[in-house]
Amino acid sequence: MAVELYSFKEIEKIRRACQVVVEVLQELARAVRPGLSTHELDLMAREEAKKRGAKPAFLNYKPPFSNEKFPASLCVSVNEAVVHGLPKREQVIKEGDIVSLDFGAYLEGYAGDSALTVAVGQVSKEKELLMNATKEALEEAVKVCVPGNWVSDIVEVIYRVAKRHGVYPLKNLGGHGIGRRVHEEPFIPNHPATLAQERKDYKLRQGMVVAIEPMLSLGTEEIAHDGDRWTVITADRSPAAHYEYVVAITKQGPMVLTEFKNG
Ligand code: MG
Ligand code: MG
Repeated sequence: MAVELYSFKEIEKIRRACQVVVEVLQELARAVRPGLSTHELDLMAREEAKKRGAKPAFLNYKPPFSNEKFPASLCVSVNEAVVHGLPKREQVIKEGDIVSLDFGAYLEGYAGDSALTVAVGQVSKEKELLMNATKEALEEAVKVCVPGNWVSDIVEVIYRVAKRHGVYPLKNLGGHGIGRRVHEEPFIPNHPATLAQERKDYKLRQGMVVAIEPMLSLGTEEIAHDGDRWTVITADRSPAAHYEYVVAITKQGPMVLTEFKNG
């Protein structure tokens, strides 16, 4: 499949979908508290998307790696869970957890996608460091999203920032192109070994829109699966964090479409 290129008008539509996603995520981040179940967060995500006339992108989505459709609107990945966390009625959030929320939605034919990690009350120094390192990896990676650079430049930045903070980028996971569909080419791995396995690199061009989403852990580069067939965890069960922005590659430089508002 070829990489899609988008006009400025289309990029504005992707931005609108991204803005809905960000608004929903901000509502959810504010709601996260001890005692709340991850299932309740999923229900909130559906409702908040509906209020804004958007359709959750992950509900009933069948990713290439699965034979089943994802049965929820939101991915909630707590502590050692990295991504694709399946919300559950019996999974209750507690003080000291870090909770990664990943949401995608369609609005008027275009997709938005974003993720962030929320600290529940007082979290450990290590978890705080991990969250900050992951956010920094994302912000640094955005800066190299300019025409003429390569996907491998993004991979490199994420790796370098992780190493600098003594944390680990997770293998076999990463970001992606986005636009008319939530997941498009190219795949943007978070680990150089995964990029090497892919055996292909892409040159960034004006009009490409990419979701950059570093996932870093405190103890390992290896992932595993927990028993629910969706949730990806760290192989050593150390905590993981995840942040995701959508970025348009333009002549004027990187344009972040998932701008979070303060408050
Ligand atoms: Mg994504
Ligand atoms: Mg996402």
